[in-house]
Amino acid sequence: MTKMAKGASFYGSVLQFFDKAAAHTHLPAGILEQIKVCNSVLRMRFPIKVGKEVKVIEAYRVQHSHHRLPTKGGIRYSNHVNQEEVMALATLMSFKCAIVNVPFGGAKGGVKINPWEYTEYELEKITRRYTTELVRRNFIGPSIDVPAPDYGTGEREMAWIYDTYRAFNEKEIDAAGCVTGKPVHQHGIRGRTEATGRGVFYGIREACNNVGDMKKLGLTPGIAGKRMAIQGLGNVGAHTATISQDEGDAVIVAVGEVDGTIYNPDGMDIHEILKWKQEHGGIYDFPGAKVRYPREQRNMVLEVDCDILVPAALENQITFENAPRVKARIVAEAANGPITAEGERILLDKGVLIIPDVFLNAGGVTVSYFEWLKNLSHMRFGRMEKRFNQNQYATLIDLVERLTGHTIGVQERRFIARGADEIDLVRSGLEETMVTAYQEIHELYKRRKKITDMRTAAFVSAIQKIGSDYMAMGIFP
Ligand code: GLU
Repeated sequence: MTKMAKGASFYGSVLQFFDKAAAHTHLPAGILEQIKVCNSVLRMRFPIKVGKEVKVIEAYRVQHSHHRLPTKGGIRYSNHVNQEEVMALATLMSFKCAIVNVPFGGAKGGVKINPWEYTEYELEKITRRYTTELVRRNFIGPSIDVPAPDYGTGEREMAWIYDTYRAFNEKEIDAAGCVTGKPVHQHGIRGRTEATGRGVFYGIREACNNVGDMKKLGLTPGIAGKRMAIQGLGNVGAHTATISQDEGDAVIVAVGEVDGTIYNPDGMDIHEILKWKQEHGGIYDFPGAKVRYPREQRNMVLEVDCDILVPAALENQITFENAPRVKARIVAEAANGPITAEGERILLDKGVLIIPDVFLNAGGVTVSYFEWLKNLSHMRFGRMEKRFNQNQYATLIDLVERLTGHTIGVQERRFIARGADEIDLVRSGLEETMVTAYQEIHELYKRRKKITDMRTAAFVSAIQKIGSDYMAMGIFP
């Protein structure tokens, strides 16, 4: 048997998930086919001078679905980028947006480079040239296609993209909406960096609050005290772990990184681990660990004894090979596509609750949506109402004091009478989005007897929403 390329098997899994869910919808075959395929695939090759050499860079932008515009999705910088991987990720973006009711089509970009092998200057050249290619082909713009960060990129790259786009579109008043995940002082939004991890936390918390589901898994309700293992301490993994520990009282028992996996059944403080990683460039020697697995065995993080396993790195991590050894009762997909279709079948047979990526990591694109809205409105959230609310609350407190004869303490008054800042509104909007979306897919999962897992429920929900858009367009009978 020829070995399938990793990207191909990832895309294959996504298509299998789609087909499984499509069977539960009553949409015409043509519409299902239109929802499944990638609408536009742009493949680029461009030269970049690195030192004295010229390197030809391979890059992509895939727009999966135009049922809503703009299309939306991150840009990944990784050596493993290939066309099918980007197609898989773009497909997931369409479903992700539909699930959390963010009115975008799905897209994804990829540049096949190892970003850690390039200088900042070279990365800037690559990013600006990639953006130029997108501009020339009309593949970027606030109403066309809006990139964002993904694996290997962050706000620095987004600032370069914005600046390059603006250079070509001087007169466009909404130019800042051409990309999201920008630095706050460059038309970004507070809370975007933590958004995916925070959304993952809200999603896990919601799942753990379901008494019936927890009982079936043999777990007590609530995230507090649950033993959590995290694969990957990148932006998503680090924020998920930190917020789960600090706001959810989850216990971090294992962390896996490039240089190994560390485990302690009694729990480890995630802030100390992150500090150690920053100071020492890895986690392997972290003193709080009781068990250590070296680099070659780093995937042991997927097999340790825990309640919640959070793969927050890359795709294809839990496969038919290691799925039988997964001990967690809940697998929370913070990364995109961490479980293959075969891996999933094994986990489901074992009764594991899988909280699917298309729902769970949608916090990033949700806050990207808020950022895009902020850019189009040209105003920070909270600017109009903050003082007004503050004055109203103060008047109300005065009234309560007068009527009751009690004086409210200074601290308490400050807390109650506070008007919402941008960060408060972003977090509140994100929490509302994740909780509502969870309830929506959970309702399908409970109500439809033949839907026996959360991923299928999530895909059914997404396919129905996208399908009804196509039907409403009237281009199909
Ligand atoms: N790259 C992120 C994702 O996979 C965010 C996309 C966005 O904000 O547009 O969901």
